[in-house]
Amino acid sequence: MALKKLEDKKYSVPTRLIYGESFTSNWDYKFHVVPPITASSTFRLESTMRGAQGFEDVGRFRGTNGNDPIYVYDRLGDPNNDMLQQALALAEQGECAVTYATGMAAVHAALTFALNPKSEIIAHRTLYGCTYSLLTQWFPNFSINTHFADLRDGSALEPLVNDNTRVVYIESPVNPSLELVDIRAVAQTVERINRDRPPERRIISIIDNTFCTPWAQRPITLGIDVVVHSLTKGISGFGIEMGGAVITRQEFYNKLVMLRKDFGGSLSPATAWSILAHGLPTLSIRIPRQQENAYKVAKFLESHPLVEVVKYPGLSSFPQYNLARKQMIDYYGDFAPGFMVYFVLKGDPPELSRSRGNRMMDFIADNAYAVTLAVSLGQIRTLIEHPGSMTHAAYSAEEQLARGFDPGGIRLAVGIEHADDIIRDLDAALDACN
Ligand SMILES: *Cc1c(COP(=O)(O)O)cnc(C)c1O
Repeated sequence: MALKKLEDKKYSVPTRLIYGESFTSNWDYKFHVVPPITASSTFRLESTMRGAQGFEDVGRFRGTNGNDPIYVYDRLGDPNNDMLQQALALAEQGECAVTYATGMAAVHAALTFALNPKSEIIAHRTLYGCTYSLLTQWFPNFSINTHFADLRDGSALEPLVNDNTRVVYIESPVNPSLELVDIRAVAQTVERINRDRPPERRIISIIDNTFCTPWAQRPITLGIDVVVHSLTKGISGFGIEMGGAVITRQEFYNKLVMLRKDFGGSLSPATAWSILAHGLPTLSIRIPRQQENAYKVAKFLESHPLVEVVKYPGLSSFPQYNLARKQMIDYYGDFAPGFMVYFVLKGDPPELSRSRGNRMMDFIADNAYAVTLAVSLGQIRTLIEHPGSMTHAAYSAEEQLARGFDPGGIRLAVGIEHADDIIRDLDAALDACN
């Protein structure tokens, strides 16, 4: 058999160092307690027929009990990504998931699989900076235009819909202002409009659920068609990898895989393995702990004389508290307001608030132990950043105000440290910036 051929002593040592003695017929990974990492960019094809079948099968949805897939080449699919995809579909209560190299690759795939030339997108007025930049800097080059509106209660949606509308795109909570969009209201409006449309003209609702992780919100159960994640954030959780995913219905699986194959944003198997082995299994201890801390930190900030406003969906002062309680729910039905906190320092004129914020963050950069000045979120360390000049710099200061966030606002992504330690560092920084 094939393995014997590989051990043949008549080949030179250098050639045998390439082929190695490292093959085993015993790697049947159903007996591994933790699945092994697959580290082979290409796969041995026993025959051209198997190769042909492998190519034919790319993008065919198999579910969990189909025949064993034929792997051909990592960009097309590999065992670790398939396992991660199954776990993500389960986590989000969707039928299938497709992974990508980064969150932005996933955002791009979720949008482009649904679009045709001249398609129109309706999006909430505030989105993650790079998503906003994708919609405003790149898609118009392909005659794909986006209408931005305040979609918080969903009522602004219908008047913007026309025959070319193909996608409704939201985030909730919104990055960075943490305002919420009523997910069920948006999903139901889209469903109602779709009833009168033929399948090829149906509108697809998409949400970026990165801020919640599936622990705190499962939009598919509220009627949304497509969920996008940056796996870099709360799902991987340790701040050591990048990834993205789209979770949706089986009917879209083929297009999402074929798109990944051809634009090339595949997730490396080692990274998929790490998210599968470390990230997802610890979600249920990391996120509740981060939430507890976020609540304590938000309470502290709310009581501080230098703080003008704190937005955290878990505070009863949160403007959309009732909506938060309705849609931000963990797997056990308990309120799950997440780990993101947004606050604005006092200052009149607003420029004072902004410069105070900068002083606070510079103090943290120099002195803090349990809070780090860095972008990203959802990891075990507490991170602080200034959206106005960093993650959301794609918006001008005037646009930032018009879209509901303060140019001086500060974003905190709370980690799993002891809450008192996070508060100690924030307290010292607030003292220092006064
Ligand atoms: C970080 C982030 C992204 C992009 O993810 P990457 O993995 O950095 O490409 C998209 N959406 C939201 C809400 C994010 O926070």
